[in-house]
Amino acid sequence: MADAATKTATSAQGVVWDLADLYKSVDDPAIEGDLADALERAKVFDKKYRGRVNAAGGIRPQELFEALREYEAIYELADKALSYAMLLHAGDSINPKHGALRQKAQARRSEIRNMLVFFDLEWLQVPDEIASRIINSPEAGQYRHYLESQRRFKPHTLSEPEEKILEETANTGRRAFSRLFDELVSVMEFGIKLNGEVKKLNQSETLALLYDPDRAVRKAAAAGLTVGLKENARTLTYIFNTLVEDYAIIDRFRSYPDPMASRHLSNEIDTGIVEMLMTTCEHNHDIVERYYILKAGLLGLDVLYDYDRYAPVLDRMPSCDFGRCQEIVLDSYGAFSPRAREIAELFFEKRWIDAEPRLGKRGGAFSASTVPTVHPYILANYTDKLRDVMTIAHELGHGVHQYLSRDVGYLQCDTPLTTAETASVFGEMLVFNRLMEEEHDPKVKLGLLCSKIEDAFATVFRQVVLTRFEQKLHAARRADGELTPERIGELWMAANKPMHGKAVQLTDDYGWWWLYIQHFIHVPFYCYAYAFGELLVLALYRKYQKEGKSFVPRYLDLLSAGGSDSPERLLGKMGVDIKAPDFWQGGTAILRGMVEEAEVLARKIGFGS
Ligand SMILES: [Zn+2]
Repeated sequence: MADAATKTATSAQGVVWDLADLYKSVDDPAIEGDLADALERAKVFDKKYRGRVNAAGGIRPQELFEALREYEAIYELADKALSYAMLLHAGDSINPKHGALRQKAQARRSEIRNMLVFFDLEWLQVPDEIASRIINSPEAGQYRHYLESQRRFKPHTLSEPEEKILEETANTGRRAFSRLFDELVSVMEFGIKLNGEVKKLNQSETLALLYDPDRAVRKAAAAGLTVGLKENARTLTYIFNTLVEDYAIIDRFRSYPDPMASRHLSNEIDTGIVEMLMTTCEHNHDIVERYYILKAGLLGLDVLYDYDRYAPVLDRMPSCDFGRCQEIVLDSYGAFSPRAREIAELFFEKRWIDAEPRLGKRGGAFSASTVPTVHPYILANYTDKLRDVMTIAHELGHGVHQYLSRDVGYLQCDTPLTTAETASVFGEMLVFNRLMEEEHDPKVKLGLLCSKIEDAFATVFRQVVLTRFEQKLHAARRADGELTPERIGELWMAANKPMHGKAVQLTDDYGWWWLYIQHFIHVPFYCYAYAFGELLVLALYRKYQKEGKSFVPRYLDLLSAGGSDSPERLLGKMGVDIKAPDFWQGGTAILRGMVEEAEVLARKIGFGS
C-alpha cells in the first residue's frame, strides 16, 4: 500500500508478530465460536446464580468460589477474541475487516458483561458482616483480594439497568471516539521539509527525528509535526472535548468527587500519596533546569528550544540493529535472573513481538497481556536508535511481568497502573547499567547517561506535568464548557513552563503538542503512574544493588503476584513503605545524583574547563 520510497527502512523490517496462538486469521470461525460459547455460558450462569449471591442467610463460600471460576472462564473466553481483534487492529488499522472485528468483539464483550453484571452488583449488596465472613473463609482462597477489593466500588456503582445502558452506549460513545482518535492518528502523515525536499513520515518516524543530532532536522520535524497537528486540530480537539465531557458525566452519575478520584480508587492508592509524589517532583524542578543548562552547554547552544531537548549530546551515538538489541536485552535480563531471560527469549523465538514500523500500524509501543491461557504480545516501532533498545527493554519488562502473573488468573493478574510499570522500568535499569558497564569511552558514557536522565525526566517530571495539565483540562471543561484548541494550548503551556524553567525556551508550536498524546484519550490520569513506577523502581534497584542475589526471588514473587494483593501490601513485603514522607524524595535524590555524575563526566572530557 505505502510505496517503499516514502518509508524509512529499519533493521526490524520483517519482525512481525504471529498471532496464531490466539486465532489463525481475521476469518477464523473459532472467533465466532468462542464468542458464541461465552455468550451461551453467560446465559447458563445467569439462570444458575441470579439471586444466589445475596440470598437470605448468605451464599455458601464454596458455591461462590465455583461461581467465580465459571465467571472468570467466561470473561477469559470473550477477552481472547477481543484481545485478538485489538491486536489485529493495532497492527493494521487500514484493513476494514480489522476495525469491523474489533467493533463486533467489543459489542459481544459488552453483551456478555451485561449478562454477568448482576453477579458483581449482588456481591456489593451483601451486608458487610456477611461479606467479611466470606472473604475470610478458607474457601475464598485465591479470590480473597478480588472479593475484598471489588467492594471498594460500592458507593460508585449504579443499578443493573443503568450499568447495562452505560456499558452498551460506551461502544458508540467513549470507545468509538477513542477508536476514531487511533484511526486518525495512525494514518496521519507529516510533511518534513529537508534540503528543499518534502518527505512524508508517520508520527513515530517524525518523533524519532527529534532525536537527530542535526538541529535543522529536529527543527523541520517539529515544524512538520505542528503543521500536521494543526491541520487535524479541529477534529482532534472535538474528540478531546467530547471525551472529557463524557468523563465528567460518568463521574456525576457515579458520585466521584473529583476527576482523579476514580483513577485513584482503581489504582488502589490514596489521593494523599499521589499528591505527595507530585509535589515532591515539583519541588525538585531545579534538577531539570540544572540538567538542561548543562545540556545547552554541551550542545554549544545559547538557547535550548523545545525541539532541542532530545538532541543527542554526542553526535554519533552508536546505532543499534534489532539483532544486537535482542542480544543486549537478553544478556542484561539473564545476568539478573536466568528465569527472566528465559521468558524474554520466548518473545523473540516465538514471534510474540511486532517491531517494524509501517503505515496504518499504531505508533509507540505496548505489551498486551491478552488472556492468562495464552501469553502477552508486544508492539513496538523500532528505528535502530539506542533509545529503541530501552523501549524494547521496557516492553519486555511488561511482558515478563504479565507472563509471570498469569498463574493468579484472569481476575487478579493485572496490577493497578501504579505498579504496572515496575518491571518495565526495572528492565530498563538493567539494560542501562549493562550498557554503562561495557562502555569505556567517557564521551559515549556521557551520551548514555544523558539519555537515561532524559528518559527519567520524561517518566517522572514530564508525567507529573501531563497530570497537572489533565487536571486543568478537566476542570476548565467542567467550568467553561467546550474548549478551543488555543485555550487547551494555553493550559498545556502553563503546565509545561515550571518544569522547563529558564533553561528551555518553549516555542508557540509546542502549544499544539498535546494533540497526539494517547493517554489523555485512552486512560485519563494514567500518567502519574509512570512517575510512581520510576521512583519506586529507583528505590527497588538500590535495594537490589545492596542485597544482591537474595533480592531476585522476592522480586520475581512480587511480579508473579500480579494484582492479587494491594500494591502497598505487596511492596511492604519487599520492605518498601510508600507512605513514608522521605520515600519519594529518596527517588528524586537518585536523579539528582545522575545529573551530578553527568556534570563530572562533562568536565572529564574537557567541557567547561
Ligand atoms: Zn510501560
